[in-house]
Amino acid sequence: MNKEQLSSFKQQLMAQRSDMLAHLVQLRGGAVGRAQASAEHFGEAEDTRAQRVTERDLEFALDDHESAALSQIDAALARLEAGVYGECMDCGSKIALARLQATPQAMRCIACQEKFERDGVPSRM
Ligand SMILES: [Zn+2]
Repeated sequence: MNKEQLSSFKQQLMAQRSDMLAHLVQLRGGAVGRAQASAEHFGEAEDTRAQRVTERDLEFALDDHESAALSQIDAALARLEAGVYGECMDCGSKIALARLQATPQAMRCIACQEKFERDGVPSRM
């Protein structure tokens, strides 16, 4: 895999990640909106608190499915940083480019993924 491909996967993953977070902020917009509304009512201290709703707070609010999807993206980004992106985490062989293009966060080759799904072998992570 060349640098251009790597950086395009990185962009895809970053975009997916921020899309997902933006979507979640929207889903939970009600809560943040109420915090802001009460800030106007109660003054500056509350306002500061509302502004401290960070990405990390949001991650705590995710359900299992959401945080699993997010951590897959994070793991793929970490593998990219570590220079092992595109290698199967089970057998170490290269993951097909078409598979990565369809699923940039894929961490196993198709054979290992099928085996993983069939046998439920716990991942090394
Ligand atoms: Zn494999």
